[in-house]
Amino acid sequence: MLALQGDVREHMGALEDLGEETLEVRTPRDLDQVTSLVIPGGESTTMSILLDSSGMLPPLKERLAAGMPAFGTCAGMILLAREISDGRADQHTLDAIDIGVRRNAFGRQVDSFESDLVVDGLDEPFHAVFIRAPVVERVGPGVEVMAWVTDGTGTRRPVLCRDRNVVVAAFHPELSGDPRIHKMFLARSRAGKGPGAEPPAPEA
Ligand code: GLN
Repeated sequence: MLALQGDVREHMGALEDLGEETLEVRTPRDLDQVTSLVIPGGESTTMSILLDSSGMLPPLKERLAAGMPAFGTCAGMILLAREISDGRADQHTLDAIDIGVRRNAFGRQVDSFESDLVVDGLDEPFHAVFIRAPVVERVGPGVEVMAWVTDGTGTRRPVLCRDRNVVVAAFHPELSGDPRIHKMFLARSRAGKGPGAEPPAPEA
């Protein structure tokens, strides 16, 4: 669990409720101890600065490139994306999933909203909380979109995407008290699908 900034505790609670062992990752040494990583919601520009100052940016990029499973929500989605629009000029991208995102782009009409999403692989809708959420503007060919939302202009936007064992959500599944999306990530990371994927992940 990347614990530099953001809603770390909510994610840890969700993972622990599912029986996962968790560790707060703040240094390159912590990173060595985990086999998968959750990046929480919060402020992606601040997390980017802290990734730099903690020395974690190079090892994290390396682990992701080697196939470490990762789950990013909201700011975490922004960090894991290939391209960021409306970021800080010096904001880093982890480039773990081939999508382009625009920061705070749902926020032109409303800052925050909730929506019942139809999610691929889930029988019942998922009640999703969006807080100054990024809009996914580009989806690469290898990326699967698992849920969409219609924005204020009537455009359908991807809000849950997956590429092999990297899962990203524009919303905050950790705030819904519904473990199904965390469960899906854990199942996915345990299955270790895709080239370079790592073995089962007891920690996040
Ligand atoms: N707007 C924030 C950012 O750019 C993300 C908001 C969130 O994580 N709730 O990082």
